Amino acid sequence: MPKNQTKNGFNLDECWQALTIYLRRGVELKALEIVHELIESGHVDEIWKFLIEFTIAEIGPGDFNALNDVLKAYENRVYFITLELMSFCIIRICRAGKSREVADLYTALQDNIKNGIPPVIPEAAVNIHTERGKKELSKQAKKEKKPIAEIAREKFVQDWGRCNIPVHEVNSAGENHSLNLWTKYGLAQDFYNLWEQPLIDALPYRSKNLDKNAEIQTLGHGIYEIESSTQKGKKYTVDIHNMTCTCKAFQHGKGQHCKHIMRVIEEIRGEQDEPKGA
Ligand SMILES: [Zn+2]
Repeated sequence: MPKNQTKNGFNLDECWQALTIYLRRGVELKALEIVHELIESGHVDEIWKFLIEFTIAEIGPGDFNALNDVLKAYENRVYFITLELMSFCIIRICRAGKSREVADLYTALQDNIKNGIPPVIPEAAVNIHTERGKKELSKQAKKEKKPIAEIAREKFVQDWGRCNIPVHEVNSAGENHSLNLWTKYGLAQDFYNLWEQPLIDALPYRSKNLDKNAEIQTLGHGIYEIESSTQKGKKYTVDIHNMTCTCKAFQHGKGQHCKHIMRVIEEIRGEQDEPKGA
C-alpha cells in the first residue's frame, strides 16, 4: 500500500477532504464509509484528531457541547467498538449547528500579526489595579479633593455602563473573521474609546486592491455613496453601521465585504490617522 493511498487505492488527501465535505453537509453514512476506509488503512489516531479538530473549527459556538461529547468519546474509546463510537461521533457532528467563528477568530489574529497590527490596551484598563492607573487616579483625587477609592469606582462604573449599550447589528457571513463575534461579546466596544466607530476600528482587515481615487460622498448616519471604479457615473451606497453595500459583489457574496465597504473603512481610518489641527 503506497504511503499516500488507502488499502483500496483511494488517495489519502482526497479521503480527508471527502470526510470534511460529508461532515459539513451532514451525510452521515458516506462519512462513516470514509472513516471505515481510513481505519482499514491504519489511520485510527488521525481520525480521532481530525474529528476533534473539525468540532473545534467547524462547529465551535454552533454547538458548545459538541466538543465535550467528542472528547468524552475519545477519552473512553478503549471501552467501545471503534466504528460504533465513531458512528456516534459522526452523527453528533453532522447534526450539530455549524459555525466557523473559531477558525475565523484565529485567522483574524494571524492576519493582524502578519500585518503588524499590535494589541491595544484600552484606556479603561489603566485603572486602580495598574501602576500607571494608580498614579493618574491619585492625581485626579487630589485635584477633585475626593478619596481615591471614589474616583476609582467612578471610573469603573463609567466603563461598566458601556457594556450594556446596544450595538448595531452587523451583517457578515464571510469566511473571514466574523463581526458577529465582536458585537456579541462586546469586544469591539470594550477595546475602543471612539464610540461612534467601534466596529470599523476593530475590523481586522487591511484591503489590498482598493480604488484609491474612487469618489466618496458622506451622507451622514454612516451612509456613504461611492463611485463605481468600472462604470463612470454609477454609484453604490454603503451603510457602514450595517456593513452593507448595494453593489452586485456584495449581494452575491453573502455579506462578504466588497471593495466599496473596504474603501469607506480606509477613508474613515485615514481621517482618524491624520493629525488634528496641525
Ligand atoms: Zn460594494
